[in-house]
Amino acid sequence: MANTTKSAKYVYQFGNRKADGNGSMKPLLGGKGANLAEMTRIGLPVPPGFTITTEVCTYYYDNKRTYPKALQPQVEAGIRQMEKIMGTKFGDAKAMPLLVAVRSGARDSMPGMMDTILNLGLNDQSVLALAKATKNDRFAWDCYRRFIQMYGDVVMGVQKAPHEDHEPFETVIGELKEERYHDHDLEDTRLSTEDLKELVGRFKKLIKQRTGKEFPNDPWDQLKGAVGAVFGSWMNDRAIVYRRKYGIPQEWGTAVNVQAMVFGNTGDNSGSGVAFTRDPATGEKVFYGEFLINAQGEDVVAGVRTPEPVQKLPSHLPAAYKELENIRKTLETHFKDMQDFEFTIQDGKVFMLQTRNGKRTGLAAVRIACEMVKEKVIDWKTAVNRVPAEQLEQVLAPIFDRTALKNTKVIAKGLPAGPGAATGQIYFNADRAVQAAEKKEKVLLVRIETSPEDLRGMIAAEGILTARGGVSSHAALVARQMGKVCVCGASALHIDYNKRTLEVGGQTFKEGDFLSINGTSGEVYAGEVRTAASEVVQVLIERSLKSKDSQTYQYYAQLMDWCVKATRLLVRTNADTPEQTANAVAFGASGIGLCRTEHMFFEGDRIDAMREMILAETTDSRKNALAKLLPYQREDFTGIFKALKGLPATIRFLDPPLHEFLPHDNAAQSQLAEKLNVSVEKVSKRVHDLHEFNPMLGHRGCRLGIAYPEISEMQARAIFEAAAEVQKEGLKAKPEIMIPLVGFPKELQLQLEIVHRVAEEVAKEKKTKFNYLVGTMIEIPRACVVADDIAKDAQFFSFGTNDLTQTTLGMSRDDSGSFLPAYQEAEIVKKNPFASIDQGGVGKLMQTAVELGRKTRPDIKLGICGEHGGDPESVKFCHTLGLTYVSCSPFRVPVARLAAAQAALKDEAVKTKK
Ligand code: PEP
Ligand code: MG
Repeated sequence: MANTTKSAKYVYQFGNRKADGNGSMKPLLGGKGANLAEMTRIGLPVPPGFTITTEVCTYYYDNKRTYPKALQPQVEAGIRQMEKIMGTKFGDAKAMPLLVAVRSGARDSMPGMMDTILNLGLNDQSVLALAKATKNDRFAWDCYRRFIQMYGDVVMGVQKAPHEDHEPFETVIGELKEERYHDHDLEDTRLSTEDLKELVGRFKKLIKQRTGKEFPNDPWDQLKGAVGAVFGSWMNDRAIVYRRKYGIPQEWGTAVNVQAMVFGNTGDNSGSGVAFTRDPATGEKVFYGEFLINAQGEDVVAGVRTPEPVQKLPSHLPAAYKELENIRKTLETHFKDMQDFEFTIQDGKVFMLQTRNGKRTGLAAVRIACEMVKEKVIDWKTAVNRVPAEQLEQVLAPIFDRTALKNTKVIAKGLPAGPGAATGQIYFNADRAVQAAEKKEKVLLVRIETSPEDLRGMIAAEGILTARGGVSSHAALVARQMGKVCVCGASALHIDYNKRTLEVGGQTFKEGDFLSINGTSGEVYAGEVRTAASEVVQVLIERSLKSKDSQTYQYYAQLMDWCVKATRLLVRTNADTPEQTANAVAFGASGIGLCRTEHMFFEGDRIDAMREMILAETTDSRKNALAKLLPYQREDFTGIFKALKGLPATIRFLDPPLHEFLPHDNAAQSQLAEKLNVSVEKVSKRVHDLHEFNPMLGHRGCRLGIAYPEISEMQARAIFEAAAEVQKEGLKAKPEIMIPLVGFPKELQLQLEIVHRVAEEVAKEKKTKFNYLVGTMIEIPRACVVADDIAKDAQFFSFGTNDLTQTTLGMSRDDSGSFLPAYQEAEIVKKNPFASIDQGGVGKLMQTAVELGRKTRPDIKLGICGEHGGDPESVKFCHTLGLTYVSCSPFRVPVARLAAAQAALKDEAVKTKK
């Protein structure tokens, strides 16, 4: 609950090199507010203003959308202070008025997710004073129409209805352009003062029509409305979607920043821009950004006009460019990270409106981290923490196959806004893109200009393509952060929302047609283009590229080397073939954490022998089928041991939920009958007999080996014969045999006897010795609570968190997709518990099992092999539990390694603090 005493400080002022707050106060002042204070303190040119704290936001929602009493006088004092510094009066009707910008600012930046109001304080009188003071009628009326437009949209709610493709205010502008110039696409800068005055009138009429209310004339009323709208926007749909996606707690709330306006739209000596201290797409150390002459900041980020690259600024405003170059250096030295900043140039003078750590692609994150260490800006530990583990996946993302591209025509070129290669069916509206993605189509979201409302469509799409807008438009930033491939500002595209067509160079594409986009080069191609592996994959896996020829690989390798220095938790892999194993080893896996032996039988004829085994009615016929399976298994295990080069392999005994393996349709049943030389009726009857109502809780896991010990016997034999074969060649094999779905200690004991007996037999036959372990999966709640008993026999535990989640939550792994989205929507679960460990429930059971297991066997080896082993948050949780390793799919290994290193560094930092 927010502090609501009268003496509480709700407003923090900044201006004239002094600030009440500073950069470390993000929880209270939000990211924007804290950094405005910090920039003011270090002497950067920041227009004065104040920040209303996030505590007020909490109060607002706790108290039926009202404010603490002490707020109003503090706001008034804030305005007075701004008036003093600027030498102007708020909403003055006689002389140059003080106008303000009102912006949101959460603790973590949420680009474009919340609302902003500029030029507040203008009304029918002060607009005349502004015109007089600036001797610029056009400018004053342009500010006024922009203000009404933003205020009408954000505060009064005049917005696009679901059936409309354009904002209502933009529609009014378009109509006026059409009427007066017969050119719907006329640039806004070409509208005359008269046009702007006309727009002000029409906008007010539109507001009255849609809301029944007059536009407020009093600046203080305007300010109250704007502050309320910013706090209100914390709960708008796109802010909620964004928070859910990035796990930002609702309780944080947003701050509100009120800042004196400076103007980038006073003429050709003015402008606005957004820039990065390094290239956010590639990480290269270059001044990167874009600007628009004679425009306000919103024009740059909204993507309505396509801006120019910042490198062109010297030819317009050389002094301002030089100052910005200096600011760029100051920012990096002070904040010690790549910054993303907004600036405005008013009549040649530069003002800083915001700075924050810049969002970047995975590729850029790795490069910037490595280069900043080289430049001695940060140390290697900071570098490891700078790359979000999830983002590392982008470095391994596919690119277009070069040979396939040769036969493909570039149909348009836009700005490269999010790297990678994407191919998909085009959709012109976010909702339809979502629907298509739900039908498992690969989707490209194609829009004239992207806007934050498109978020759901962007999440669903493989890639995003726009005809207008720059690389720093809000939506482009968000696309990059999500790792979505994005090309924007491809101006050759003519998109018709009504006809649902895209026309370019004489070719017309309909909704549902395929296009491909290259978010690294900005190119757009017709049709589907084959994608190829990333450079890291080409070096490590395909070996088609030399490491010295790939800078990307070198940065990746540097980062992974640092991870090795930091990590305590090992990363193994879930692999069922020698090829998958080799890939994972190349990515740095320290062994196999799960080899699902039943997966070895999906291929070719193997499935028939597997089915024959499952359908067998007598021990003899089962043994017969098993004899066919043995050589396959032995061969696979040999390959896997070789690929592991002496690293351990956790091999799990068969765990086939029967429904996955039985032939269900008539054709498959008769095919099998023919192969087995039995009647279809017989096969079909047996399938019928074996039918289970709950196959996931049925005859699977160790239950199979208990009912039919000959199955376990065959598997143990295959494993040890393969080990003997490999050892004969002078290589090492370290099998760790794992029994699935154990709940009772006796289940494990029975299987254990078989393993040890067969090991002894094979050792004798082959005149060799084996270095092996036998352990169990911990994947049902009973196993967790009797783990002390189970540990008497198990040399290791591996948490099967897929089944453990299924059985703990009583939610079917296979069916949860139908209701989990509703659960996430209602925030019953923050994340999908099958993707990220439910730490409060499943996690507690894991902890119990760890503690009990260690009580019996202090040095017990502990791992996890459910899908959660590749989820950074779950990896960090496993580190906290003190597990020995996590195991995940081969391509997730680098992600898990990075997450494990970060967890270790966090631990170290906490211990050092103590
Ligand atoms: C598990 O249950 O987490 C597991 C790894 O086994 P499977 O997914 O094969 O059931
Ligand atoms: Mg399982």
